[in-house]
Amino acid sequence: MQESVMKAWWDSSHMAGANAAYVEELYESYMEDPQSVSDTWRQIFDSLPKVEGVELETNHTSVKDQFRKLAALGPTARMSSAPVEGTPVSDDRQVKVLQLINAFRFRGHQHANLDPLGLWKQERVRDLELSHHNLSDKDFDSVFNVGSFAIGKDSMSLGELFKSLNRTYCGSIGAEYMHITDTDQKRWLQQKIESVQAKPEFSKDEKLTLLKGLTAADGMEKYLGSKFPGAKRFSLEGGDALVPMLKNLITNAGAAGTKEVVIGMAHRGRLNVLVNVLGKNPSVLFDEFAGKHDDSLGAGDVKYHAGFSSDFATPGGNVHLALAFNPSHLEIVNPVVMGSVRARLERRNDDTNTVLPITIHGDSAIAGQGVVQETFNMSQTRGFAVGGTVRIVVNNQVGFTTSKTEDTRSTQYCTDIAKMVQAPIFHVNSDDPEAVAFVTQLALEYRNKFKRDVVIDLVCYRRHGHNEADEPNATQPLMYQKVKKHPVPRAIYADQLIAEGVIEQRDADRYLEEYRAALDHGACVVEEWRPMTKHSVDWSPYLGHDWDTPYDGAISVEKLQALGEALTSFPEGHKLQSRVNKLYQDRKAMVSGEKKLDWGMAENLAYASLVDAGEDIRMTGQDSGRGTFFHRHAVLHNQADGSTYMPLQNIREGQGEIEIYDSVLSEEAVMAFEYGYATAEPECLTIWEAQFGDFANGAQVVFDQFLSSGEAKWGRLCGLTMLLPHGYEGQGPEHSSARLERFLQMCADHNWQVCVPSTPAQVFNMLRRQVVRPMRKPLIVMSPKSLLRHPLATSSLEELAEGKFHNVISEIDDINPKDVKRVVMCSGKVYYDLLDQRRKNEQTDVAIVRLEQLYPFPQEECAKVVAQYSHVTDWVWCQEEPQNQGAWYCSQHHFWQAIPDGAKLTYAGREASSSPAVGYVSVHNQQQKALVEDALTIK
Ligand code: AMP
Repeated sequence: MQESVMKAWWDSSHMAGANAAYVEELYESYMEDPQSVSDTWRQIFDSLPKVEGVELETNHTSVKDQFRKLAALGPTARMSSAPVEGTPVSDDRQVKVLQLINAFRFRGHQHANLDPLGLWKQERVRDLELSHHNLSDKDFDSVFNVGSFAIGKDSMSLGELFKSLNRTYCGSIGAEYMHITDTDQKRWLQQKIESVQAKPEFSKDEKLTLLKGLTAADGMEKYLGSKFPGAKRFSLEGGDALVPMLKNLITNAGAAGTKEVVIGMAHRGRLNVLVNVLGKNPSVLFDEFAGKHDDSLGAGDVKYHAGFSSDFATPGGNVHLALAFNPSHLEIVNPVVMGSVRARLERRNDDTNTVLPITIHGDSAIAGQGVVQETFNMSQTRGFAVGGTVRIVVNNQVGFTTSKTEDTRSTQYCTDIAKMVQAPIFHVNSDDPEAVAFVTQLALEYRNKFKRDVVIDLVCYRRHGHNEADEPNATQPLMYQKVKKHPVPRAIYADQLIAEGVIEQRDADRYLEEYRAALDHGACVVEEWRPMTKHSVDWSPYLGHDWDTPYDGAISVEKLQALGEALTSFPEGHKLQSRVNKLYQDRKAMVSGEKKLDWGMAENLAYASLVDAGEDIRMTGQDSGRGTFFHRHAVLHNQADGSTYMPLQNIREGQGEIEIYDSVLSEEAVMAFEYGYATAEPECLTIWEAQFGDFANGAQVVFDQFLSSGEAKWGRLCGLTMLLPHGYEGQGPEHSSARLERFLQMCADHNWQVCVPSTPAQVFNMLRRQVVRPMRKPLIVMSPKSLLRHPLATSSLEELAEGKFHNVISEIDDINPKDVKRVVMCSGKVYYDLLDQRRKNEQTDVAIVRLEQLYPFPQEECAKVVAQYSHVTDWVWCQEEPQNQGAWYCSQHHFWQAIPDGAKLTYAGREASSSPAVGYVSVHNQQQKALVEDALTIK
């Protein structure tokens, strides 16, 4: 029935020549609303073959193309049942042919030959069969218009077209790109893939380079396997193509203008990449296997987590390579790489193509780890974009011992997550190195042109178990029966080149022998390796300083006032919201000395003073522009037109750069990104702010694996500052504690600083100290909430100007030390509760000492303060946090060391609790009152 309707439609004069434009209009209306056309036309359009999963829009594009062509052909484009050779057929089959092309573009990857082991069970895709489109091999000789199929000709016989479609979309490459809605990108990819039928010609030299890459990958693993049998090396074998692939990518990137490449990868194949791509000296690696180590790296790390830096010669000049140090936590290094790239790009102030991020993922990890989603989500945002990342999945089809797809993921491909940003995905059979090289070049070109992420799914296998001591047959018996019989990639490609007459067997053998000899010799085996030239950042000024390195942070009051003027100025037409306006009026009064400074103003002044001195600042976090608690207002929103203005960017001509971004709602990837940024850029105050301090636990892996231990493990300095709002104000378990105890528990080796500033002058000087002092160590700050507006938490311009962060603050009231019978030590907001209550009590026998830096513990400054109270034997540590939390357990040994010999130290605070805080305000108030009383009551 439908067939006859179609035929009638095509036979009708409406379809002839110019009337096709009219039909196109009708079709367009139908696409928007099927009811808008007559029943007859609706029936005709309804009868067009559908391709499963294909959006109407795309069907529409092809059909429209065809209508346009018909219109251009004029009246001759009538149905012709007996086509003249070479003249396109114009009957109802034409549309079906266009649908067939579309089907291959959408679903060809499902029939592609991707798995080197041939184990993948591919479902039969009917859309890729002629019969689904009411076509058959009887139509093979008929010539059809091929629409936008970018083969370089307008028409082809169906036989030729079908072959070409299969070759293009169902060979060693499975291209997924039809989910991209941007027509330019889609057309560009089609053009690139279809014009060479996904199989470009490679020159003899290129082929030999690929073979040598595979030889190196294979030779390296065999060598390690025989020299260090049973030692863990997380062999690349099976995914050998990664080595020529990376070299190809770097070479082409360099040719296209890239100057730096930052790579993140997990342990699998890392030793191979270190030696065969980055040019690490094999003898150094062998020494590491033999147990030798570099003492300069402190605690050190296992060799398959090591980073490396080198230069690599390319046709466009030398490219600097940096392989990021990496913990065992899969995927977490990727945002670190992106942060590092962002810092390098900003330093170059250049086109994003000058620095290329490459992240290498495992198939189970890319689908399993949530941080991957976070990085995709960040990839196009203002604060985190890096011009696209080339993401390579080493898809060996097993995650440790889990291989069944129904156990590892709920998606067809491990790469489906990438579709959330409409990234093109190229699945490729890793036993076909030329196909791998083709998609690698395509991915790079796409990334550079469209500045977006792109994914290569390198489908391979793992020749051994998870590591070399493992027995894979225990869990993957069928797969490993196959693996055992499967020739190595080098041999497959060597045989192919021999069959093509490109080389002879003896050439292939010679390459292998030469590679082994080079390893025996122990020298660098990467021809392109070059010694690192002078780097754009010199870390040497930051090496070897401890936290108490003297520095000059003083600044004049006049300067502060001038900065304050600039900070409170904005263009006349920039209409502020009334509360913000009031705050800015107050700030003006603070500048003139009429009012004391509050936290927000002091913090902004710290930034202003730094950019004025030419320092750069980057701050990201949850609602950082305004500040979670309405205190910062560094970004002013014009109430008239929504435009924004940052006074901090307008302090003076030629000032340092400052960027403040509200981050995506993530902690893990954002923190890791900022770690990457700060480890690549020492000349910038880099700050990450949590909305509430305990949200930082969403980034626990970054604190544990990178921030606390990166310097000890890898010798990498990092000056990242973290502002973590903390304080017990009756807001319940989730919004009270930044989990101070966790940070204190990780303190050792002066790995980082933990500060609890209690005044605006202190935050001003703490932030400045972090940059002005040459030391670069992470700074964990318990930052305030209610203190932001506490009437006692104010400072004078003079206090700011002093330029010194006080690690310990002694008693401020006029209390004679001789009268003191008890000293209460504390940190943070509870100080003001204690002060207030003591004043109310009119007590003069209790002194209150604030510890503003809990780690590294300021013994010397503490000793000076304690000296005034050397006669006091009753010392108390007071805290708001429950006894098992806060500083009591982790810092007690420091407190004991600080107090006079023979004195006793007791605790005043909440009882131990499994929850950080109570949920009921009334209970909170009772507890707070009790702990303050307890601290002030001398028994
Ligand atoms: P990269 O650009 O990351 O390859 O770094 C080049 C060189 O700079 C490294 O080999 C180190 O010597 C030094 N370097 C880079 N980052 C750091 C850091 N965070 N701390 C100390 N030195 C670094």
